[in-house]
Amino acid sequence: MADKKNIKNIPLDDLAAQFKEMGLEGYRARQVQKWLFQKDAAGFDEMTNISKKFREILEQHYEIKRLTVLDKQCSVDGTIKYLLGLDDHEKIEAVLIPSEKRNTLCVSTQVGCAMGCAFCLTAQLGLKRNLNIHEIIEQVGVVRRELPERQALSNIVFMGMGEPLHNTKNLYPALAILLDPDCYNFSRQHITVSTAGLAPEIEKFGDLTPVKLAISLNATTDAVRDRIMPINKKYNLNSLITACHRMTLPKRNRITFEYVLLDGINDTMDDAKRLVKILATLKAKINLLPFNEHPRCAFKRPSEERVREFQKYLLDHGFVAVVRQSRGSDILGACGQLAGRGQSKK
Ligand code: SF4
Repeated sequence: MADKKNIKNIPLDDLAAQFKEMGLEGYRARQVQKWLFQKDAAGFDEMTNISKKFREILEQHYEIKRLTVLDKQCSVDGTIKYLLGLDDHEKIEAVLIPSEKRNTLCVSTQVGCAMGCAFCLTAQLGLKRNLNIHEIIEQVGVVRRELPERQALSNIVFMGMGEPLHNTKNLYPALAILLDPDCYNFSRQHITVSTAGLAPEIEKFGDLTPVKLAISLNATTDAVRDRIMPINKKYNLNSLITACHRMTLPKRNRITFEYVLLDGINDTMDDAKRLVKILATLKAKINLLPFNEHPRCAFKRPSEERVREFQKYLLDHGFVAVVRQSRGSDILGACGQLAGRGQSKK
């Protein structure tokens, strides 16, 4: 018999089609997915509302996989970084950021990343490969299993290793499973996908998923953005903002623009002024992230005073602009610090 298929890696429609090919009712695919994701079944024998014969067929053709937790690091601020092992011995990281009101999980979409952002440790790995659907959603499964029942995961952010819009083939089916009421049942308002700025993918984003989009902007001139985010050489600021205008935005949603403040690079008042002009015509919210310094990167964090001045200018010009305090930087779990320990550079 051929190798068993990883059933969590199969989108609902494809699973229904496979069942029909085997002479089974297609609607059973939803029933099985409910067991896999909502009830987190570890084996087909747990699927008690499915006939024994059907369970035997499932057993013959499919397997239920889980990711391995290789290590767990806890920050003084409560952030927990998970090192997860994949079947081919690659490693990824996911970060749980608990707060009073919510438990946010930051998930990865690739092993490494091809985008080459100058301030990011993941970039130093290069791109090794895309994560498949199962590997993306199972990060949620692993962490959910670890949490006490009353502390459910409330928010998912795609800001871990990799560029999500460089792996859309697996990102969109994974989002569908996270949103499906019979699977993980997350609210669309509680999921955010972050991109370095793949303009053609941004244009399509709002037509393919209702979740929120964040754009890692980080510069107000092409010269600086070319230097710190090489993707800008392909899709410059103008094409990025044009794509944002063309994107379908669900009612009440705004695009979040992430802006990592790097001392002496992108944190001047001229930058603040240009930022206001660049975003003037968009429904935008700005997250300011003072850089998390680390030994493998030469950038510095601006002074507290500089950060406040920058923020004040944006607020005075009518923007929602929030300074995000980084979490988990003592365990290299903060933004731009994920590197899948033990990974070799490509
Ligand atoms: S910041 Fe994001 S897109 Fe840029 S290199 Fe790092 S993981 Fe990739």
